[in-house]
This record gives sequence, structure tokens and C-alpha cells, in this order.
Amino acid sequence: MDADVVVVGAGPVGLLLAGDLCASGARVTVLERLTEPTTESRASTLHARTMDVLAERDVLAALGGLPPGGPGHFGGIRLDLAAADPGHRFAGQWKCPQAVLEQALADRAVRLGARVLRGRELTGLDEREDHVVAVTGADRITAAYLVGCDGEESTVRALAGFDFPGRDATLEMLRADVEGVDIPDRRFERHPNGLATAHRWPDGSTRVMVHVFGSTPAPRSGPPTFAEVVRAWAAVTGEDIGGGRPTWLNAFGNTSRQAATYRRGRVLLAGDAAHRQMPVGGQALNLGLQDAAELGQRLSARLAGGDDDGPLEHYDAVRHAAGARTLTNIQAQALLLLGGPEVEPLREVFGELMRFDAVQAHLAGMVSGLGTPPAPQHTPQERTTMGKLEGKTALVTGASRGIGRATARRLAEEGALVAVHYASNDEAAAETVALIEKDGGRAFAVRAELGVPGDVHELFLGLERGLRERTGATTLDIVVNNAAAQTAAGLAPEDVTPEDFDRLMAVNAKAPFFIVQRASASLADGGRIINISSGVTRVANPEQVAYSMSKGAIEQLSLHMARHLAPRGITVNSVAPGITDNGSPVFDIPEAVEAMSQLSAFKQVAKADDVANVVAFLATEDARWITGAFIDTSGGTLLG
Ligand code: NAP
Repeated sequence: MDADVVVVGAGPVGLLLAGDLCASGARVTVLERLTEPTTESRASTLHARTMDVLAERDVLAALGGLPPGGPGHFGGIRLDLAAADPGHRFAGQWKCPQAVLEQALADRAVRLGARVLRGRELTGLDEREDHVVAVTGADRITAAYLVGCDGEESTVRALAGFDFPGRDATLEMLRADVEGVDIPDRRFERHPNGLATAHRWPDGSTRVMVHVFGSTPAPRSGPPTFAEVVRAWAAVTGEDIGGGRPTWLNAFGNTSRQAATYRRGRVLLAGDAAHRQMPVGGQALNLGLQDAAELGQRLSARLAGGDDDGPLEHYDAVRHAAGARTLTNIQAQALLLLGGPEVEPLREVFGELMRFDAVQAHLAGMVSGLGTPPAPQHTPQERTTMGKLEGKTALVTGASRGIGRATARRLAEEGALVAVHYASNDEAAAETVALIEKDGGRAFAVRAELGVPGDVHELFLGLERGLRERTGATTLDIVVNNAAAQTAAGLAPEDVTPEDFDRLMAVNAKAPFFIVQRASASLADGGRIINISSGVTRVANPEQVAYSMSKGAIEQLSLHMARHLAPRGITVNSVAPGITDNGSPVFDIPEAVEAMSQLSAFKQVAKADDVANVVAFLATEDARWITGAFIDTSGGTLLG
């Protein structure tokens, strides 16, 4: 192996990471496309948490005394960043040109042993089971891991196939450094036509930033022209800066995108490669440096020991959640800042709220990186008692309707955060989620058709994204395999086609098996797996032979996995309903219901809740001594 880690991108994020990895003994190669360090300083603000990171690594000393950056803002409304923690040694914000920071981080990385190769573009990436190959021109560099710190237009992200969902810009701000103009300094000054900011640098040039209300981003392949900036500035302030000379031109918008995951196998992302956001309040650079600090620690731990991928999963979970939260506050700020007259009432109310110390402290904590996310809040219909599944997470497949919906609702009622899985009925799934939220619970929908290639992978992508956004982790406590395909009523065994059979097996047996296989990695100790079978595995019903065979298979899944997972305190059980009202039209026909009722010892068809209550019980701690069991929830149908 040529290196332990290849870092792509020698910006502040890549260099901080390279230094940290070298400090723990790793061999690091940094590839950088540019032949010389950039002299451009896109970002210049350091927040308290980042100052801690730099101080811990002795980088602050190399930067000399940094000037304080004064109070901050939130969407252009004054925010005292020191309010996050007034006693903090770096309370507030600090000014440091990015080029200066980059140089200090580069010196440190090289001093600690990093091999920084400039003028080397990543042209290919080849991931193997036990290493990754970085291709740059004719060279191939092998390493255990590769990290993309290569910014917004990340080549690593594209080559490794990371999803990068989010929204493109709807609003845009133009900025320029201009020599030879004499205009007053102003901070987020709102005019009837737009927003203007001007700041004179010590060298006498002036940084202007301008947005015309109601304007939409122009299609661009490069920076804006100076004429555009001059026109916008005149439209907003009435001043003519056309006589000046631009030394730097730039446009940025409120694009908001985040990689669906920060890790794919041996490839990881950090900084702008992992998240793209409006550079408001210097948060992008600070977020990136904090990604690097976390990743340095976790990747060093991963390199140091064993086969445990936990540290990298931790990085992905923790930094994805931090990024999502920052992107949300940036989007809120973009609306407050660049919205026209229509946001004035919102700004006024926000401005009033920001006079409260607690609000200042909260927002300052969020921006400075010192705050911790609030614990999940219950909705207004708060439960007055703690549920038995408080703090747990659950996946219920096929939860858009019927027994699955009732189960999802019961688990949420007990306090679990529930992933409501479904195949295609978006409306029904959204209704399940809405019902849960109305009752004060928490849920989110996950769409994935089972029984088709890639089904379980797709399910877990949505599931893990949803969990991570809400809990900062992907830990799962409860899995209910409920979704199932049925056979048409009155289908004689002679008429079952191979396609019918394959479909039943794929949805009812194969998918649950691979769901359990995949889930067992993320299932917490003491977790629960509940497989929904059917009473027809115990009563002969020739019309249901193929369906019953698929349900027999899921009972085998429970039996064998119960033994396998018992050492971790995970229980696996089968629940077998009889005829249960799942809301389908047949249950509206009295004669049909009457006939079906006769099958149960209670002479009734079951309500979906009758089954859901039993599933919910099995999910609790109270049921920890039941595993590998077949639980008859047929209302005595099997008594004969
Ligand atoms: P249901 O009302 O028919 O609902 C089926 C659920 O599964 C829906 O959420 C559906 O999603 C989902 N689903 C179906 N096929 C899927 C696929 N290929 N991929 C992903 N999701 C799929 O079901 P139910 O009657 O409540 O039955 C629930 C469980 O109990 C099943 O395992 C069933 O075999 C068992 N059971 C039911 C009865 C009964 O009388 N109801 C009796 C014995 C056993 P969409 O909404 O998106 O289609």
C-alpha cells in the first residue's frame, strides 16, 4: 500500500485532516489539483468551536493574534455569538484570511509527515475489497482509505457515486472587491429594492455584496461580470461604482445539498464535498474544519485497530446530523436575508424573539458549533406518561395500511420513532405518519417495493437517512416484518403459476430474510424482530398453499434467528393473525363478515389493533423472555 489514506484536496479541511492523521502515525498522501496555494480568501471567520480545534493542535499560535470579528448575525439580524457560552476562552468570532489559515495548516501537515502533491488531479478511483486506488494521470496510488476534501464540485463525490440530494439556488447574491471607490460601510442594509453590504478592507479596496429582491439566479459558468454588479448596486443603493476596478468577482446562491451519506465503503467525504450551502456567517468553513477534526480522530481509530467499522459509522452519523442542522439554519437565514418585503413581518417577529437571552444563546450555540441539538420535542398533544418504548426506533414494513398501520401507531404511542415503510401508496403512508403525529408520536415514511432486485438496499437507504436526520444515528431497536403479498381468493393449487409463486416467496420470505440480515448489523442489543405470519400455516387451506408456504418460511426465519441473536438479547418471534379487518372493501360486506366471523372462537373478525397490541407487547422489555415463539393471534381460529 502506498499510503494509509489519500486525501484529495489541499484546502483547510484536507490539510487539517492530513495533519491529524499523520499525528496519529498514519501515512498520508494529499493530492491537489492547483499547482500553487490559492491566495483567494473566500472565508475569513472562525467560530469558537473551531478555535478550540486549532488551539488543541497548536495552529492558533502559528496564526499569531487574531482580531475579534465583533458580534455576528442571523439572517442579517444582529446576533451576539458570545452568547453561546460567554465564559468560553474564544467566545465570539475571529477573523483570519483563509489563505493564512491554509498556509499554517499546510506547514503543520508537512511537518508531521504528510506528502502533499500539487498539480495532481484525481482522474479515477477504483475501490477494491481491501484497498482503494486513486488514479492521477498515469499514476496509481493505493491506500486503505480515500477522503474527498475537494470542495463543492467534488470529483471524489462524483467518482464514488455518492447521492447528493437537496435544492438548487433560488436566490443569489453578487459580490466583488473593488478598488477606487469611496462608499460608506454598511452591514446588511435593506433598501426597498434589495440588500447591500459594503466593507472597506485595510488595503483601501471595498468588498460589496448585493442582492436585488425578486431576482433569480442567472445561469452561470463563471463569475458575474463587473457590469452586473454595478447595475445591481445602482438598482439597490442608487450609487454608481462603475468607475472602480474589480479585483475579485463572485456570485453565490442559496443552494442546499448534502451527501446522503458521508461514507461509502473505503471512500469518505468531509467539508464542502459533503455539503453545499450558502456561505453565510462563515459557517461552511467552520463546519468543514469540524468534519475534519472528527474524521481525523475516527479514521485514526479505524486504522489502529481490528475490523470494527464503528468509528467510521460514528463519523458518518454524527457529522451528517451536524451538517443537516447547519444547512437548516443556513436556509432559514437565506430566507430572512434575501427575502423581499414579504419577509418583513417574519424579520420583525424574529427580531423580537432575538431579544430574549435564551434565544440568542440557542442560535449562537447553533452557529458557533458550541451548542448541542435539542432533545426531540413531543408535539402539543404530549403524552403525560412515558411509553414503554420511549427512545426506541422501529421499522414496520407495510405500515401504510391494515395491521402494519395499526402496529406503527401502537409502537409510536409507546414512544418509539417509527419508520413507516410501504410499496407505492404514498397517500396512505403519509396518512399513517399524520395519524401518528396527531397523537403526539414521531414517524417518517420510507418507500421501497419489496420483492424486486435492490429492494432491501433501497429500504435501508431511506430508513437510515430518516433515522439519522432525527436521531443522529442509524441504530434500530425494533423490526416488524409485516408487508406481504397475497394470492387471489379462490385460486386452486393447479392454477398457481411459477410467477405467482416466485412473487410470494420474494416478498413474503426472501425480503424479510434479507431485512433481518441487514438489520442485525444495526440492531441494538436487546432489540426485537417480529415476523408476521398467518394462521394458515396451521390449518389446511388448499387455495392458500403457496401463500402459506411463504408464511411457513418466515416462521423458520424466526426460529433459527432467535437462537442466533439470543446472545445479544435480541428476541425473534412470529405472530400469526387469523382473519383481520385491514380496511379492505370485503370487510364492508355484512354477509362476508358474518361468514368470516364464524372461524374465530369469539365469532368475530379481528380488528387490526387486536394484532398490533400483541406485536407492541413483544416489542417491550416485558417480553424479553419470549423468543423463537409462534404467537397465535387468530382469536381462537386454530382451536378447531
Ligand atoms: P394490507 O392491508 O394488504 O397492507 C399491505 C401492506 O404491505 C401495505 O402497506 C403495502 O404497501 C405493503 N406491501 C404489499 N406488498 C408490498 C411489496 N411488494 N413491497 C413493499 N410493501 C408491500 O395487509 P394486512 O392485511 O394488514 O396484512 C399485514 C400482514 O398480516 C401480512 O403479512 C399478512 O400476510 C398478515 N396477515 C393478514 C391477515 C388478514 O386477515 N388481514 C391474516 C393473516 C395474516 P402499499 O400500501 O404501498 O401497497
